[in-house]
Amino acid sequence: MFEVEWHFMAELIVRTAIMFLMILLVLRLSGKRGVRQLTLFEVAIILGLGSAAGDPMFQEDIPIFHALVVFAVVMTIYKTLTWLAAKSLPIHRILEGKEMAVVENGVFSIKNERDNDFSTVEFFAELRNQSVEHLGQVRTALLETDGTLSVLFYADAEVKFGLPLFPDAYQKADLSVYRGVLACMYCGCVQQHDTVMKTRVCPRCKRDKWAKALNTKRNV
Ligand SMILES: [Zn+2]
Repeated sequence: MFEVEWHFMAELIVRTAIMFLMILLVLRLSGKRGVRQLTLFEVAIILGLGSAAGDPMFQEDIPIFHALVVFAVVMTIYKTLTWLAAKSLPIHRILEGKEMAVVENGVFSIKNERDNDFSTVEFFAELRNQSVEHLGQVRTALLETDGTLSVLFYADAEVKFGLPLFPDAYQKADLSVYRGVLACMYCGCVQQHDTVMKTRVCPRCKRDKWAKALNTKRNV
């Protein structure tokens, strides 16, 4: 009994080592330089390979050769689709999705007031990471298909009033005291105090929370 276990342990070690080296080899062959961010298509490939790589490590009855066949098929599909995607933009869009405008001309690019798929709060941290103090500094921000955010800034002379993104300034303004420029706390729409006082509702997203807008430049 004990003998059998030891025998299996030795096999486990060999199988795991072989599969591990195979995973490394296949990932090197895929041509990816690293995995900072993965597109959904790449995640699908990795899920496909994951089970094929992991199961033969500890399941005696699965020959390693079978895993090799799965690896070869998945990599062939990956290479073929990547090649097709490079040739055709529609196929690229189907596989990788489409980049999405997050900020346009200093405001969040919500399409309409019922755009619930678009949560602006989730981009606050990303924009702060790119040293954006308020939206008035941003001409365009794009969410790339790998989940990273690309930002184009206004030149200092063109910086507008915008919604603050850091917590100490992202506060509801007391409209009875503060008379300056306001920014909608949801979509970033900038309005004068007088205009806001008429309805208190944002003309773009119909929400009614306002913060003091900032117009600080990036290089002070
Ligand atoms: Zn708004």
